[in-house]
Amino acid sequence: MNYKNYPMVSRVVFGRGSFNQLGDIIAPERLNRKAPFIFLVDDVFKGNSDLTSRIPLAYDDQLLYISAEQEPKTSQVDELVESIILTHKDRPSGIIGIGGGTILDLAKAVAIMLTNEGEAKNYQGWDLVKNPAIYHVGIPTISGTGAEVSRTTILTGPERKLGINSDYTPFDQVILDPELTKDVPKDQWFYTGMDCFVHCIESLNGTYLNAFSQSYGEKALELCKEIFIEDNLSEEESADKLMMASWHGGMSIAYSQVGVAHAMSYGLGYLLGIKHGVGNCIVFEHLEDYYPEGVALYKAMRKKHNIKIPQGICADLHDDEFDIMIDVALSLEPLWENAIGKNWKQVITRNKLKALYQKM
Ligand code: NAD
Ligand code: ZN
Repeated sequence: MNYKNYPMVSRVVFGRGSFNQLGDIIAPERLNRKAPFIFLVDDVFKGNSDLTSRIPLAYDDQLLYISAEQEPKTSQVDELVESIILTHKDRPSGIIGIGGGTILDLAKAVAIMLTNEGEAKNYQGWDLVKNPAIYHVGIPTISGTGAEVSRTTILTGPERKLGINSDYTPFDQVILDPELTKDVPKDQWFYTGMDCFVHCIESLNGTYLNAFSQSYGEKALELCKEIFIEDNLSEEESADKLMMASWHGGMSIAYSQVGVAHAMSYGLGYLLGIKHGVGNCIVFEHLEDYYPEGVALYKAMRKKHNIKIPQGICADLHDDEFDIMIDVALSLEPLWENAIGKNWKQVITRNKLKALYQKM
């Protein structure tokens, strides 16, 4: 057995209002005393002076607003990298992502691709990145994905939706300021929060489970229950706890894997552009055979918060489209092996997946 030796986020700040410290935190990282920081900011914050006025721009620093409407693409990463290289003489001092999983993943990928040759699609997979990324900072504004703590950045490429998993992917610095999540719309709060919940269920019920993953997964699950079921938290307590649940959920899958919901949700994402959080919910509705307790709990949470999950999204698909989704899902072998075990290929057939997709 050769155990993985994983890097982690090297520095983290937690606290309401900690975003105010961003300038002080990054100042010592400025290269050549003037090389720019590039801020990638979710465009939902455009015109929101409460946040934008606190972004500490200096010298040639650049602020790029980015839409989170679509999940990150390898081509988008390549374009961003090219425009940054063309705009600035100096290699940037760092990339700072401010937003949800979409923006955090873009920030990680851009930081990697500024020091690695070629196109982002060539690095989708495991441990393909050769050179360390430039300094990168993640500042989540919505909680649940664990992207702030993970060793991957999930990108849709021409051939697949797959992460750049590497030792250089994790952020050098994360700022956890739960205040930044206060305006997240309720449905989105639930979808992204359920990403965390599903990480816990898939990790805790997987064959890869070990004490490391379990300790984080159990804590995250306990927090999810407090937040989504028990209902005796103030709004602030709930936001604080969800930010930590996301962190723990992400840590839990670092040393294990996700499972059936994620594999199938990637298929929906690749073919139909369904976003990760809501995609997991759409799939999870139908996974009682695989995660009976988790699905029951999920349904109770969905009812309690009166959240609508899109239905019938696969109603009009053709066989070749089902095949595309099934191919994407089945290509994620470690997810199935974690969920089902080494013999998963005997258990998970194309017909089974098709029947599940047809229900969605
Ligand atoms: P997101 O970043 O796609 O954002 C969802 C919506 O919430 C967007 O409309 C965004 O503008 C809005 N939003 C974000 N913060 C807000 C705020 N404070 N106020 C109001 N609106 C706000 O959502 P997400 O669920 O965090 O991220 C999904 C992405 O994360 C997917 O691309 C998925 O692949 C990725 N992901 C990555 C990892 C990882 O480990 N790298 C893990 C899970 C998911
Ligand atoms: Zn996820």
